[in-house]
Amino acid sequence: MGDWSWNTLQAADRAAIWHPYASATNSPDAVPVLGAAGVHLQLADGRRLLDGMSSWWCAIHGYNNPALNRAVRDQLGQMSHVMFGGLTHPPAVKLAQLLTKLTPAGLNRVFFSDSGSVAVEVALKMAIQYWYSVGKPAKQKMVALRSGYHGDTFGAMAVCDPDTGMHHLFGDVLPKHFFAPAPTCRFGDPCPDSEMIAITDLLTEHHREIAAIIVEPVVQGAGGMRFYSAQYLVHLRALCDAFDVLLIFDEIATGFGRTGKLFALEHAGVEPDILCLGKALTGGYMTLAATLCNDRISEGISRGEAGAFMHGPTFMANPLACATAVASIELLLSQPWQRTIARLHNDLESGLAPARGLDNVADVRTLGAIGVIELKKAVDMRKVQPMFVERGVWVRPFGKLVYAMPPFVMGSDDVATLTAAMVDVVANI
Ligand SMILES: *Cc1c(COP(=O)(O)O)cnc(C)c1O
Repeated sequence: MGDWSWNTLQAADRAAIWHPYASATNSPDAVPVLGAAGVHLQLADGRRLLDGMSSWWCAIHGYNNPALNRAVRDQLGQMSHVMFGGLTHPPAVKLAQLLTKLTPAGLNRVFFSDSGSVAVEVALKMAIQYWYSVGKPAKQKMVALRSGYHGDTFGAMAVCDPDTGMHHLFGDVLPKHFFAPAPTCRFGDPCPDSEMIAITDLLTEHHREIAAIIVEPVVQGAGGMRFYSAQYLVHLRALCDAFDVLLIFDEIATGFGRTGKLFALEHAGVEPDILCLGKALTGGYMTLAATLCNDRISEGISRGEAGAFMHGPTFMANPLACATAVASIELLLSQPWQRTIARLHNDLESGLAPARGLDNVADVRTLGAIGVIELKKAVDMRKVQPMFVERGVWVRPFGKLVYAMPPFVMGSDDVATLTAAMVDVVANI
């Protein structure tokens, strides 16, 4: 299989690979991983790192999970992939049944795709094609929130925060949408009507050209790790109904238990018209995403002039990925996962609390199995990343945020090790 030593891997990587959000020629070397099991990443030099990231919200059951491994192997023996145009198969049907059962009652229709960004593209396209189909073709614009993140493809990027979402680079080619202020009412607090003034004004003036509002419910993830009042979503649903605008929830990061509810929308009891799922959908095994919608959307589009919804990824509803997703969801639901998230929340809260006393810390916040230390200044990744690796943990900060969202299988002792490393690194930068 070749020489997978630390140095060989790093050199070959440096020569040929471009990493996410990185310079090809001037980035710190990537850390070589040869395996992963449970809550640990096995490095090429024999060290193990405790994983605080769940590989970007995905690996909720940890790595190399026997039940998920079995699901992949069993499906591999049946078929790894068939096209989805004109064909169907049990993994897709089972997964769609599960998703429509677990999500709010009105969301009856599932459109599968291959990544979160594409699920968002599909959602935006559904909203626009819906209004076209029902005779309101002027409704093509979106309203998104500042500090939001919805993915990296062009349609998704256009609804990301205009500053952190690189709109300055692509401004001339991105479709122009409307942006409302990020909610300032905190999670757990009520959301006063004053929070809704700017977005209400926006809708009052522009609703004839607005197709949908898209938000990440309760947790704004990659745009700033902000937790906001669930009541904001109740207000948003009322505004959407009043102005005849669709509501899209992007639960790609928050879905499958991370915030303490199976879906973050349950904190508010609000039902969107369109829902995007991804990331933890397959337990971090494979890339798969889903866009769910209600009958109003699916029937509106299907009765319309085009009749068909114009999208169809090559690897749509990949059977391996769907079978793994079914196994991952069944595994999650077979355990007292709410208790697990509550325990992780306590562990993160008590473990990160000492960071509140540090001079360079602006805020410490936790919600469900998410723990965030927000610094006053952006971290120097060149300096900070090796500090974490030296302490035997894998945490990857961005900007001012040092945060963790551990696999749900992480025990309290390991969370204590993880949070102690976070506090220690922050205290020493
Ligand atoms: C990660 C993420 C996406 C994009 O998903 P990809 O699979 O990376 O394309 C979209 N929305 C939210 C909220 C995300 O966290």
